[in-house]
Amino acid sequence: MADEASTPPPPAYPTSACTCGALVIWTVTTSGKRMPVDSTPADDGNIKLTHRGTSLPPLAVVTTNPAQLFGVRHRYRSHFANCPHAASHRRGRR
Ligand SMILES: [Zn+2]
Repeated sequence: MADEASTPPPPAYPTSACTCGALVIWTVTTSGKRMPVDSTPADDGNIKLTHRGTSLPPLAVVTTNPAQLFGVRHRYRSHFANCPHAASHRRGRR
């Protein structure tokens, strides 16, 4: 479990509500795509966010290699991974 006393709070990224009701942070990936991530950091997240000030969305670095996130205090997960509306975001149909 996280040690609350020694872990600083994550930056206060602006959040907005997804259509499913969850709070998400809209980020831009290194390839320039907009991507919502869960507003709450996750210990097993695979996304590192870089705060770029209030006028730009945070930069999201997505990695599949956990070693690249060693030492990163706040990791995030793509909201698409657990959004019940993800299919409609992707315009897919079941
Ligand atoms: Zn959602």
